[in-house]
Amino acid sequence: MPQTAHGKAERETASSRHRWIPITVAIGYWILGAIWIASTDWLLYNFLFSSQLRLPFETLKGWIWMAVTATLLYFILRSALDRQHQFEKEISRQISRLDFIVQDLGGLWEMDLQTGALMTSYHLKAALGFPASFEDTESNWFKYIHPDDLPKVTAVRNTIQINFGRTVHLLYRIADAEGEYHWLDVRARIIRDENGKPVRLMGLATDVTETKRTEDRLEHLLNYDVVTSLPNRASLIRWLDDFLPKQSHYASILLLRLDIARFREFVSRYGHDESDSILRAFGERLTQFCDAPAFVAHLGADEFAVAIPNIRSSGVGYHYAESLLAKLDEAYTHGDEYIHLNVRCGAALSPRDGESSEALMVAAGLALSETKKSQTVKSFYAQGMSETYRLMVDRGQALRGAIERDEMSIHYQPVVSLQTGKTVGFEALLRWFRPNEGFVPPAHFIPLAEELGLIDVIGRWVLEQACLDVSQWTDDARGPFVAVNVSPLQLNAQHLLSDVASALAKSKLSPSRLELEITETALTQDYVGAAARLRPLLALGVSIAVDDFGTGYSSLTALRHLPFTRLKLDRSFVIDYARDDTCTVIIDGVIALAQAMKLGITAEGIETIELLENMQKAGCSLAQGYLFSPPVATDQAVGMINWDWFDYSREGLCIKKQPEDNV
Ligand code: C2E
Ligand code: MG
Ligand code: MG
Repeated sequence: MPQTAHGKAERETASSRHRWIPITVAIGYWILGAIWIASTDWLLYNFLFSSQLRLPFETLKGWIWMAVTATLLYFILRSALDRQHQFEKEISRQISRLDFIVQDLGGLWEMDLQTGALMTSYHLKAALGFPASFEDTESNWFKYIHPDDLPKVTAVRNTIQINFGRTVHLLYRIADAEGEYHWLDVRARIIRDENGKPVRLMGLATDVTETKRTEDRLEHLLNYDVVTSLPNRASLIRWLDDFLPKQSHYASILLLRLDIARFREFVSRYGHDESDSILRAFGERLTQFCDAPAFVAHLGADEFAVAIPNIRSSGVGYHYAESLLAKLDEAYTHGDEYIHLNVRCGAALSPRDGESSEALMVAAGLALSETKKSQTVKSFYAQGMSETYRLMVDRGQALRGAIERDEMSIHYQPVVSLQTGKTVGFEALLRWFRPNEGFVPPAHFIPLAEELGLIDVIGRWVLEQACLDVSQWTDDARGPFVAVNVSPLQLNAQHLLSDVASALAKSKLSPSRLELEITETALTQDYVGAAARLRPLLALGVSIAVDDFGTGYSSLTALRHLPFTRLKLDRSFVIDYARDDTCTVIIDGVIALAQAMKLGITAEGIETIELLENMQKAGCSLAQGYLFSPPVATDQAVGMINWDWFDYSREGLCIKKQPEDNV
């Protein structure tokens, strides 16, 4: 570098100057002395005529010369010594600063590549607990390198002479004096001779053990389950992505998804700590049975999975799953008790049931749900997937990126006030249009999105889009509200609150115009947790509706604890009103209760005038259903704002034409 060359030249000039100073001073002294002697002699001989006085004058000029030069010498020496002293002080300050930096950096080292001579700093040895007398040779240091890391260090050492780079970087473990391994981050600069041949290495070794440990812990948290320390879903997907392309035509990967039936009951009976230890025991049993190359993963809660490569036929897979289930069927001892876990299993075989990790996971997951539906505790799917399953796997794959491909849209169904007959809001209902399949009903893809972990992305999109649409129709804070369906998984995720806040902020929609619909079953499964998650949402100013009320088995205790603002009576419940006495009594009771609790009530699925009248009489405040309008696209929905839906004629209540019929 030019700067360095410039510095070097300056240093060389300074040092040659120093070399010439003494001789210059000596010659100067000699010349001055000669001038003094010659000039004073000349003066004495020419102006002092008395020869007796000449001698004392000559002595005097000698004394004068000595006095002047002694004084000069005194001042010169004193200033030189002072400067020397200052210089030494500065040097020792710089040395201690350098020492501090070196100590902080770790350890400096230098190696002569010709002789192999090594010089490591005192700090490096001290950091590893070695005495200063530690033998500084390459072979001695190499003895302490971790056997797993030794090959890579040796490889770098052996190729250093043909290394064309400027630096070397290595990360390896080395044992300290007590045998404990430290991670060293070693960086060295290759110093070359004038022919470009590497002659020396100058480097810095830093102990990065703590950083490495934190990284490892983070890596562990990302890839392993916290309870069982087994690889998690992400690790399994990676393993499948890695292994699937490597399978030959004659071998398959068998994926088993296992689920412990009614584990929730187990948790409420034994508590979380005991349940966690049972999960660990279950995981250990799985790992013992499925040894390498099988890959065991804990997908979360009570769900596990095993991927087994090199399965030659579906028959082999069948037997493997059978014997695994038999093993898992054995009881666990818990104190004096024997605990029996009912395990359900869904199986899928690659490439037959899915060629990608995603397809295989969906296939095995669907097979598992099938065992749940058919109430078979131990069963698995291995006979080839039916068309329905294939379609679902196909949809699962297509669902990813459906938003980006513009296949998703939102339709709006008007919600009508039973007092005024006007539109007061809209329910946002997601629609998926697949080019080769047409509209896919939400019931077919929402559970799939939940299963594939896509519901967060989709749910966030619906939330943002619905808020944006409605805010564009009118920015009046008293304008129609929009009711957005929220999946139980979204409710359980930590970011629902921030998602809602961000959707409101982006659209500038007043929070009072947003209602979140959460299904009854999702809320009552863990009503304490749900209540905690709903409260901040209510505090934001949005409303919360319990959707599909009447389909679950909510206890009044549960509902009493939940902060919500509206009940939506499910269609199945509404339809039986006035047909079935018990249902009538229940609905009347629920409406009375809701009124007492100052909750709003919406009746869903109003298809006939009779139902509308019945709900109106029962005291229901809002209604929605095909009688008014099915869910419609945005441009149609705009026309329905402030629309009067019914009127009273001589014959009684009658429905007015829909806005688009008037055009
Ligand atoms: P939901 O929230 O109970 O929505 C009401 C469903 O009833 C809608 O079905 C609507 O089209 C239908 N419906 C409305 N009026 C009538 C009627 O008079 N008669 C009959 N037979 N049906 C009526 P859709 O759109 O198929 O949605 C089904 C379910 O899918 C929704 O039930 C909701 O749980 C879920 N869903 C829809 N969109 C979303 C969404 O964006 N996110 C989530 N998480 N779930 C959604
Ligand atoms: Mg709904
Ligand atoms: Mg509903």
